[in-house]
Amino acid sequence: MSDKKVRVRFAPSPTGPLHMGGVRTALFNYLFAKKHGGEFILRIEDTDQTRFVPGAEEYIIESLNWCGLTPVEGPGIGGKFGPYRQSERKELYKNYADKLVESGWAYYAFDTPEEIEALRKDAEANKETFSYGIGTREQLNNSLKLSPEIVQQKIEAGEAYVIRFKMPENTDISEDDLIRGKVTFNTTKSLDDKVLFKSDGMPTYHLANVVDDHLMEISHVIRGEEWLPSMPLHVLLYKALGWEETKPRFAHLPLILKPVGKGKLSKRDGDKMGFPVFPLQWTDPKTGDVSRGYREDGYFPEAFINLLALLGWNPGTEQEFFTLEELGEIFSLERVVKSGSRFDPEKAKWFNKHYFQQKSVDELATLFTPVLKEKGIDAPAEKINAVVAEIKERCEFVSDIWEQSSYFFVAPNEYDAKTVKKRWKEDTPAKLSEIAGIFEKVKDWNANSIKDSFSAFMNQKEWGFGVVMNPLRLALVGGNLGPDLFVICELLGKYESIGRIKAAIEKI
Ligand code: GLU
Repeated sequence: MSDKKVRVRFAPSPTGPLHMGGVRTALFNYLFAKKHGGEFILRIEDTDQTRFVPGAEEYIIESLNWCGLTPVEGPGIGGKFGPYRQSERKELYKNYADKLVESGWAYYAFDTPEEIEALRKDAEANKETFSYGIGTREQLNNSLKLSPEIVQQKIEAGEAYVIRFKMPENTDISEDDLIRGKVTFNTTKSLDDKVLFKSDGMPTYHLANVVDDHLMEISHVIRGEEWLPSMPLHVLLYKALGWEETKPRFAHLPLILKPVGKGKLSKRDGDKMGFPVFPLQWTDPKTGDVSRGYREDGYFPEAFINLLALLGWNPGTEQEFFTLEELGEIFSLERVVKSGSRFDPEKAKWFNKHYFQQKSVDELATLFTPVLKEKGIDAPAEKINAVVAEIKERCEFVSDIWEQSSYFFVAPNEYDAKTVKKRWKEDTPAKLSEIAGIFEKVKDWNANSIKDSFSAFMNQKEWGFGVVMNPLRLALVGGNLGPDLFVICELLGKYESIGRIKAAIEKI
């Protein structure tokens, strides 16, 4: 690596919620910066006013914060290369576009959108695709064809124009991608004359992106594979602007693929298979449609980060669990693969389970308390802790805690029909009545002493344990589930346990 200070940026466009692939791009940039003692920057690329979505920028920032990927410079943070929102840097791009025209690397084009559309249609009718560039530009309405006087007149008359890059003819553009190795594009075969500056006074992505990467002294451009086709244009822009010496290195990350079938992971896959593709829940400001998020679905950010890290990167060992800090020590672009990596929603849950199990009972109880409050349940902290300790092992998500433990907080008002049919016999009520009587007499209400009194009584009666234990469980929890029965009794308390036995005798 060169001795240039490592400065990387995450440069999303606020056109909607951030896809998990976008979060992975941010993560890899963040880790690369950490690994090299560099700086991770957030830049908002909002020059396409037609695609601006209100709330998207806030969403992006909140997502990064939730994941712990905090930039050192960015909108709302500041930094000496600011502003970090391209719409606020608007004034500075035109100058560079003009320079490119002056040096012959770009030209003014006056073709209206309608004219271009007509050319596109004509080409289509001949089963061809229209491209504004090497083969066509000499015949079109631009400063390559028109005389300088006419061009001057048009501009002075206020005619709308764009500035296009003039792709050099038949040139091979090669660049060493840090993940893909040498990548070569031929200008005539694959590259058109991209618009750099639009008639609305805004730069396009290409110009603003390159200008800002240069001005912000970005050392490495790490971004998704979908930007690989833009690389030759960007490389040429560095050359045209005289910035070749300090041009950043490029690394294009592999796609994240659908769990099944071909193609990249989309929101539709998530909807179909029931998993989120966005870090946080998102409500579309136009339609009001709500898309689920990892956070709201109960994932821990540690789990989300861990699973993203392994989509396209591997440590070269068997290790699968990593903290953000550990990743920042061992991450390297050399271990990022070229080919797409398949997302596995089951594995995502498995990661969450791991981090869930790692949490202390106290932490989980703290997370579970609001769930109870929302249900109008105000239980003492010791009880919540004790319940969580009992059922923790059976859970992957905080939401599972309620599923596994609701009967500790609310008495059953229904009894599982199958269990009733199998376990509730004619003499069950009489037997349970006697048990309730035994429970009344237990002095120290804890699992051990309840068990002792119960066992002594059972031995004396010579009743089979199953004959009583199963309907007793049914009476206390409403079904055939839960941990040790005497532990349940202890946590429910004496009067609640006895009350539930009596209620079951009445209701079943
Ligand atoms: N604004 C682009 C995006 O939305 C940035 C691509 C890049 O990193 O160059 O992804």
